[in-house]
Amino acid sequence: MSENCLFCKIIQGSIPAKKVWEDENCLAFQDISPVAPVHVLFIPKKHISSLDALQKEDSSYIGNILLSISEYASKEGLSKSGYRVVNNMGTDGGQTVFHIHFHLLAGRQFNWPPG
Ligand code: AMP
Ligand code: ZN
Repeated sequence: MSENCLFCKIIQGSIPAKKVWEDENCLAFQDISPVAPVHVLFIPKKHISSLDALQKEDSSYIGNILLSISEYASKEGLSKSGYRVVNNMGTDGGQTVFHIHFHLLAGRQFNWPPG
């Protein structure tokens, strides 16, 4: 838990969020500014600031988050049409909230390379 972290406050419940998934390892909620018909953020319940700060002992959080995304996407019927999973790291990566998170984007065709 980190004092001034927005996503830690969402985990604690002191800031509201539209939760769509919760297990012992992670929480997922609707992005407040969606860029696709489906835009959900998956976050570990442990405060890890970014992919760059990830320690070996935290690696199971990431594996479990990806499994949760896969299970959620399947449950929501997104697997057939497909979806995109994004992690932004640091300034050039476009990271704005420094609690590691994975965007699940679906419901439209995405471009590659990204802008
Ligand atoms: P990133 O730019 O990869 O760090 O992503 C941060 C994401 O958090 C952005 O897509 C924001 O729209 C989203 N966000 C910021 N504040 C909130 C909030 N209070 N509830 C839900 N999503 C949020
Ligand atoms: Zn945090």
